[in-house]
Amino acid sequence: DLLNSEITDLEEEQSNDSIRPQTLASYVGQSKVKAELEVYIKAAQMREEAMDHVLFYGPPGLGKTTLANIIANELHANLKTTSGPAIEKAGDLVSIISSLEPGDVLFIDEIHRIPRSIEEILYSVMEDYYLDINLNGQEGTRMVHLDVPPFTLVGATTRAGMLTAPLRDRFGITERLNFYNSSELEQIVIRSAGILDYQITEEGAKEIALRSRGTPRIANRLLRRIRDFAQVENKSEIDQKIARQALDQLQVDSKGLDQLDRKILDLMYDLYQGRAVGIRTIAANLGEKGETIEEIYEPYLLQLGFIARTPSGRMITPMGIEHLKKVRKEEKFE
Ligand code: ADP
Repeated sequence: DLLNSEITDLEEEQSNDSIRPQTLASYVGQSKVKAELEVYIKAAQMREEAMDHVLFYGPPGLGKTTLANIIANELHANLKTTSGPAIEKAGDLVSIISSLEPGDVLFIDEIHRIPRSIEEILYSVMEDYYLDINLNGQEGTRMVHLDVPPFTLVGATTRAGMLTAPLRDRFGITERLNFYNSSELEQIVIRSAGILDYQITEEGAKEIALRSRGTPRIANRLLRRIRDFAQVENKSEIDQKIARQALDQLQVDSKGLDQLDRKILDLMYDLYQGRAVGIRTIAANLGEKGETIEEIYEPYLLQLGFIARTPSGRMITPMGIEHLKKVRKEEKFE
């Protein structure tokens, strides 16, 4: 579906680089985060020192990777990129760290997924720029000491709560990314359309913005899909009408919810009749992973106020019920 096609969408990956903002000035929204980063970047440059380590957290698609790129770019530094799941052995991390040069920016996406025993290597590296490691060679185990040049670690996570305290404490800067409002998303859509050379009206962009779940990645993805519809219909520009038609066909409702969102609401309303239900139960019922529900679906439903968190689980709210009834009456969506 629309939210989960992240990894397989080759087209998206290829056009991502061109539409990803490269400077703080072209990064839309998140004004508090931007204002703070501007100061930290400038201060680091004035002192000619590496900037403090930064942790970004928030739901997927809100611009964490983009900010890591921007930091490196604004600092005129090299960016090295890896991710928690790519670090399986201590050696994977050690080889990246030993390749760092003074002032480099190292971006670790999904940093909460680094195995705990390996994560410990980062502590002395982040705090004191050195690394002590046991190497197993022919002559037995040998302790190796490695000095690491001053560098900036940028970590990103969708699950701040899953980070261990010692790791979290070693980030001097922690920034939470929030969902974007519709005028910010509209700006993003118009900017992306310009770069991709698609014609779009203001109303067309507004329609996409309203149905993008506060998420730039989704706004950009919907823009590409709607472009396909416009092309097939022989329309030279995306207007509100074609945007609406396409979004309906894509099963994205007026609040930007997709089929799985609505299934979650259905389940809470029909099967649990508004009572609290655990994430794992929801996931099992829908044949999804609990993680997927928690990381991708739940945050926006909470943000809309359609579900609420209670000590005994999640439950649908009156607003959620109202939306569900409205959508059912329209009979446009499964
Ligand atoms: P994350 O790392 O948080 O999952 P990304 O940084 O990969 O998200 O952003 C997803 C997409 O959204 C990127 O292709 C980027 O172009 C776009 N994007 C994210 N934030 C912004 C922003 N503030 N302004 C414009 N485009 C953005």
